[in-house]
Amino acid sequence: MGRCAAHPYFTSPAQKPDLHRSRARENPIKVSTKTYNQKTMPFSSVTKVADADFPTRWGQFRILGFEGIVENPQPCNDDIPAPSKRIEGAVALVMGDIHSAPPIVRIHSQCLTGDVFHSLRCDCRQQLELALATITEAGAGILLYEQQEGRGIGLMAKLKAYELQDQGMDTIEANLELGYKADCREFELPAEVLKQLNVHAVRLITNNPAKVEALELAGIRVTERISAEVPSEPTNERYLQTKREKMGHLVS
Ligand SMILES: [Zn+2]
Repeated sequence: MGRCAAHPYFTSPAQKPDLHRSRARENPIKVSTKTYNQKTMPFSSVTKVADADFPTRWGQFRILGFEGIVENPQPCNDDIPAPSKRIEGAVALVMGDIHSAPPIVRIHSQCLTGDVFHSLRCDCRQQLELALATITEAGAGILLYEQQEGRGIGLMAKLKAYELQDQGMDTIEANLELGYKADCREFELPAEVLKQLNVHAVRLITNNPAKVEALELAGIRVTERISAEVPSEPTNERYLQTKREKMGHLVS
């Protein structure tokens, strides 16, 4: 099972939504934690490409860039062939002493609409702020930021999925309608980055049990799960409900 094609913006006519013959509606799929890849690391290499000073309004971090190369990746959308080689990027914000005890870690997937524009369609920005606040308060920790917009489907596909959600689908149904998997993410890259940082046990900020499971399977021990629950907004209640009911997220 692979990540998304590196070029999710190139869509084919086959992807055009046909609401009368919705695959998603005919076959509602409950997403299990098994959605995530539990096989071997697909990267032929993971390389640290940069390590720089990074002052922020939250505090003083180092900012590290990592690139993972995937040979012959599997497509996330059967209608869109994957390239023969894909380079996946991840950023690590590192604060303080991350080695004397398992550090607080958040694995955040890029959400342009939430992280940059403060969208209220999702809770990503609030979770990002919660993670940065928690790390800063502790004086140590790692924020891993993965360039996987829209659970890996890409920005343009995510906007198309929003359009379908405006017509009544939930976030998973919309992804399936567009021909994508419900969740194209895997967590081998963050696991590999942690190993390169010489971190083998973490206190993970997440509501997603699949992330805990995936990290453990990738060889990183999760000594504690710290809740990433943030207050819901009327505009993202349905999104949070879907994550809870169909993706097993632990929020009340
Ligand atoms: Zn978001």
